[in-house]
Amino acid sequence: MASRLIASRFRCVIGAPADYLGCPFASYIDSFYFRKGFRPEGPSIVNSVSRKAPTDSGAEAQRRLAYFSARRDEMVSTIRELVEIESPSDNKSAVDRVAEAVAAKFSRLGGEVRFHRAKDFGNHLQVNFGGKSAKPVLLLGHYDTVYPLGTLATMPCRIEHNKLTGPGVLDMKSGIALMLHALAALQDWHGGLQGKERHGGLPRPVTVLLVSDEEVGSDSSRAITEAMANKAAAVLVLEPSYGRQGAVKTARKGVGEYLVKVTGKASHAGLDFGKGVNAILELARQIEKTSSFTDLKKGLTVNVGIVSGGSRTNVVPADAAAQVDVRIARIKDAAGIDKKMRSLRPFNRKCKIEITGGINRPPMERTTGVAALYAQAATIARDLGWKLGEAAVGGGSDGNFTAGLGIPTLDGLGGVGDGAHATHEHILISELPRRAALIAGLIEAV
Ligand SMILES: [Zn+2]
Repeated sequence: MASRLIASRFRCVIGAPADYLGCPFASYIDSFYFRKGFRPEGPSIVNSVSRKAPTDSGAEAQRRLAYFSARRDEMVSTIRELVEIESPSDNKSAVDRVAEAVAAKFSRLGGEVRFHRAKDFGNHLQVNFGGKSAKPVLLLGHYDTVYPLGTLATMPCRIEHNKLTGPGVLDMKSGIALMLHALAALQDWHGGLQGKERHGGLPRPVTVLLVSDEEVGSDSSRAITEAMANKAAAVLVLEPSYGRQGAVKTARKGVGEYLVKVTGKASHAGLDFGKGVNAILELARQIEKTSSFTDLKKGLTVNVGIVSGGSRTNVVPADAAAQVDVRIARIKDAAGIDKKMRSLRPFNRKCKIEITGGINRPPMERTTGVAALYAQAATIARDLGWKLGEAAVGGGSDGNFTAGLGIPTLDGLGGVGDGAHATHEHILISELPRRAALIAGLIEAV
């Protein structure tokens, strides 16, 4: 049967070399990962390795590309529909609205829909495409956005040449649409829903998890994400890809946040200058100290992003505070930087210092499991006719949590475009077909 043939063809991995030269972070990856002994090929986690002649898999890939190209407008209209339901993280009823719309679409594909109720945020959505025979692949994403309600008025969802614009179109409503269309295609290719085939007509069990609070730290969804990941064979994160070439993300930095609060003593700057203890002066010294913890060779950065303090120019300030962003590329650096932050002591002993916060997202490191997933993706992309790059990025996602558990995770599989979180946010429409084909191929292969 054609569907079985497709499956076996896309289950083969030919150990394609990683596209390091095409990657804008090549030098960072080279200097960092190769010293750690990682190799792009990594051991394959593929079940069956049946090498097919490249022309066979290439022809099949072209058929798949044509399938999605013929459905490009459908994909665009799915994305538009989702973008036009605004869903800022801090508005539960708005996020619940998009959740319901997305759930209805997955339900029409035969998925078993389940909401994880959240009190202060939108509900999180889990969809199971059943089967206990094998571990599912987890498709991970979020439907909240950073844009307040009403943004559509100034930033409408519209097509401008090859671009589709709108709030959250790249991050990551196009990713959700890609999940839907890739799953629908797999059902088509593998016999569909007639006769209630195994796994809801899919070649393997799939779990979808879409959370409502990713843009604000994932506090209410983290435990669910981790529980789902622990049951999965691999995690595919459909967050935006990197750059115009649509590189996937094989490493993300871990993130920490700290608040450094200084208390001094207020006094009149003219009458009692000597009686005051200047908290801002103390904080300035602490800012220099914390900033010196940055170690670029390790990919460790400390950024004092927000400072506050004082009340009037003629008052020696009693209070000052700094909010600090810490990024780590390696989990082994977490304890060290955390200890340094917590060990800050006042330069001026008349000041008091209070440190709160910590590392809240582990880094997604390019482990052998991650590298193997990337190698599979690169092979599928090559058959589709393009060279899939990879990137190490500083920003975190929920992929950090799943990779932190040691579950093979590939991130940045979603839309290709630019301007996430910005007024020019858009995706490139022409990239949708091969993106969908890549995701469908990966769901089969891992
Ligand atoms: Zn995102």
